[in-house]
Amino acid sequence: MHPEDAKALQMLRKIKGFDELIRASMEYGYEQVFRGENMGFMVKVNSRNFPELYQAFKGVVKRVGIREPELYIYNDPVMNAYTYGETNTFVAVSNSLIEKLTLDEVRSILAHECGHILCQHTLYNTLLRTIEELGILLRVISRAAFGPILMAMQYWSRKSELSADRCAAVVVGERTFQTAMLKLACGMSTIQGSPYQLVEQAHEYHRFENDSWWNRIQQKCRVAFNSHPQMCERAYEIDRWKDSWQYRRLRNE
Ligand SMILES: [Zn+2]
Repeated sequence: MHPEDAKALQMLRKIKGFDELIRASMEYGYEQVFRGENMGFMVKVNSRNFPELYQAFKGVVKRVGIREPELYIYNDPVMNAYTYGETNTFVAVSNSLIEKLTLDEVRSILAHECGHILCQHTLYNTLLRTIEELGILLRVISRAAFGPILMAMQYWSRKSELSADRCAAVVVGERTFQTAMLKLACGMSTIQGSPYQLVEQAHEYHRFENDSWWNRIQQKCRVAFNSHPQMCERAYEIDRWKDSWQYRRLRNE
């Protein structure tokens, strides 16, 4: 687990009433609704449907060491994947992601989602979604009431992505992780140039951000409500981590 993820989660747990909110959210949450929707609209991957992808998924699940979630493909030109649920977990991947990435890069994305399950992020993500849904349903009232929790959760959500990325890098290797990130960032099925383009961009971004206090404030405000860290930050964090003993030990290198 990324240390900042663990720290942010600890902070979240200190918020009064947080545990009660989680329990209520699970009880009335959308887990079952999503389960029905998956079966209704998506295509389930198993040993008969998309067997190659299923075998790759099984391999990732085994390497990560979790109970096998259900795997679905959904139709979307945006390359994306997500996991959801606490008792009946599932992973959903968009068709464009499968079509534009190599099988190894797809494994990287699957390992990222399995990393969320391994770190038990799904519970808190489920809660985050529920609060967001409530926010939409009740408009301003719940936004105001849940505002501070929502902001704290968005901060944690960004940090939790870094833990899941580490899981991906361990399963497929940091180089494949980087090429998968590049394709997600530019939306292309083939990339030209260095697989570490995003890392180089991150260095450039950090120089730009630290250029003046105004740049810093502007950029921090820009990302405050993002649920995901920026692509270049994700590439940068794994690049920083690849030389650690932890990474090498987990990779058996
Ligand atoms: Zn994620």
